[in-house]
Amino acid sequence: MAALECALCGRFTEKLTKEHLPQKGLYSKETRKIIPNLHTLKACESCNNGSSEQDEIFKVFIGLVAQQDGNELLYSVSKTFDNNGKLKRSFIHNLQIEERNGQKVRLWNAREHTQIVLDSAEKCAKGLYFREFGEVLIKSKSISFVPTPFVYEKDKVEVENRLKDAKWFSVNGQTVNYTFLDMKNTDTLIIINFFSSAEFVFCIRDKEYSKKVHAGLISLSQ
Ligand SMILES: [Zn+2]
Repeated sequence: MAALECALCGRFTEKLTKEHLPQKGLYSKETRKIIPNLHTLKACESCNNGSSEQDEIFKVFIGLVAQQDGNELLYSVSKTFDNNGKLKRSFIHNLQIEERNGQKVRLWNAREHTQIVLDSAEKCAKGLYFREFGEVLIKSKSISFVPTPFVYEKDKVEVENRLKDAKWFSVNGQTVNYTFLDMKNTDTLIIINFFSSAEFVFCIRDKEYSKKVHAGLISLSQ
């Protein structure tokens, strides 16, 4: 029997399952009628069985950051809170309301849930990489989260230049937009934006990077 390759971890298995990335839970039934073909890929069972708690936390995070009028996602978040008192308490505890340009902005520090939020976003990044390049990211590359203020500070000029002619891609009716920026040192940044609000930046680096730098194949001085 032909073995099948998981798009996320690259393992070969006899059976692949359909994985929604980002998770289906970010879209209400109503929205799913408007966007019938949510993005999916084929993943092995172990990649595909993230816990429902994990999905809930990611949904809450995105829902609270994405502040749209008549936000159905926010309605779904409040239903989750009704069923998950622990998460609700953690949310209230970590909620901050700030004023920006005369508008009240809700900020949620994910704190103990930060890793879960980042893991979910990273999984999306791997899936979107596969969608664009038809390659399992972690086979030849590593991926790491870059705090957004950091990337815009440290590589501000380069990032701004790259963004000028960046090509943006999208899935799920442009609710998720992403781009790849090829940086001068061979790193690639993937920027993923959910619902025009929550933005994550990951750095994708050649696994052989250090070896290549060492061998003089990559020059860092230019
Ligand atoms: Zn897998």
